[in-house]
Amino acid sequence: MSLPSRASYRDIPLYSPSKARCRVDLSDNTNLFGMPPGAERVLREVAVPLVTRYPVGYSPDLREAVAHYTGVDTSCVTTGCGSDDVIDSTLRAFLEPGELIAFPSPTFVMMSYFAKVNGLRYAPVNLRPDFDIDVEGLLATQAKLIYVCSPNNPTGTVASRAALEQLIERAPGLVLLDEAYAEFARESHLDLARRPNVLVSRTMSKAFGLASMRVGYAVGAPALVAEVEKARGPYKVTALSERMAVAALREDVPWMRAKVAESLAVRERLVAELQGMGLTCLPTEANFVMVKLRGALEVAERMRARDVNVRAFAGLPGIGDALRIGCGPWDVIQTALD
Ligand code: PMP
Repeated sequence: MSLPSRASYRDIPLYSPSKARCRVDLSDNTNLFGMPPGAERVLREVAVPLVTRYPVGYSPDLREAVAHYTGVDTSCVTTGCGSDDVIDSTLRAFLEPGELIAFPSPTFVMMSYFAKVNGLRYAPVNLRPDFDIDVEGLLATQAKLIYVCSPNNPTGTVASRAALEQLIERAPGLVLLDEAYAEFARESHLDLARRPNVLVSRTMSKAFGLASMRVGYAVGAPALVAEVEKARGPYKVTALSERMAVAALREDVPWMRAKVAESLAVRERLVAELQGMGLTCLPTEANFVMVKLRGALEVAERMRARDVNVRAFAGLPGIGDALRIGCGPWDVIQTALD
């Protein structure tokens, strides 16, 4: 028997094998201020009977809760097992193997892997020197799907409204706007999901603090959402995850906003400390800071040996070597700075 030789999800490098062993983990931009109380109540009070049950197909309660939270109709919402899954399903829904996607560089590292596992070609287009997206460069690729992440992981920088509008107006196909960090940003562009060629993806993993429950969603025109649902599979979100995410979206928004505010206050303090050390931080609107640092990989390795995990990058276009540091409670951050 000959086995297929296509790109594999197992080729996706996991950030840091030693991560699980680190006492302080500032590497994945999650909410380090605890879990939302409504979701925690679900876990304590109703988790056990849910575990033996299948979820209802296509997560109708979750879709309703997302619609309520985002102010759109339920027909405009699709959900998945993390926004990773929503993004992956979107690529499968709209593109055939061999077709092209474009995205800014640097951006969310998973994009090149999602392209590979779906047999797609991909065109990275460098961010402009001011960290806005290069609209002309992205359009010049003529890609059928253009992905933009704002606030952008790993830089924390945002795409300007004007650039997004131009891109959407002139794109030959779908624009997938990844707003995983929207709750931390000054401005959300969710309203752009009213356009016929835009999907906006979001996650419960970051501001809402439910990373391990694996819940993500996308908002867009019903026709686009219906296409993603075709590629999605019915039972992606577990019954427990659905109930916890629904509780978080319906009850825990004030908690989430308070934790976002704490995170942003820590971020300002962290930026001031780093600048005080003579380092350059990129202008961030996310719950993490990218700081330029020559030899970042080695620095991160030394920090890991001291039980602190941050994400390091080498030779990023227009940036060079850099660390990405997530914002948790100040005493946790201080451990990283010591
Ligand atoms: N998009 C961006 C920009 C991210 O940083 C992440 C997580 N690192 C995701 C999507 C995926 O998040 P999840 O699958 O947990 O929703």
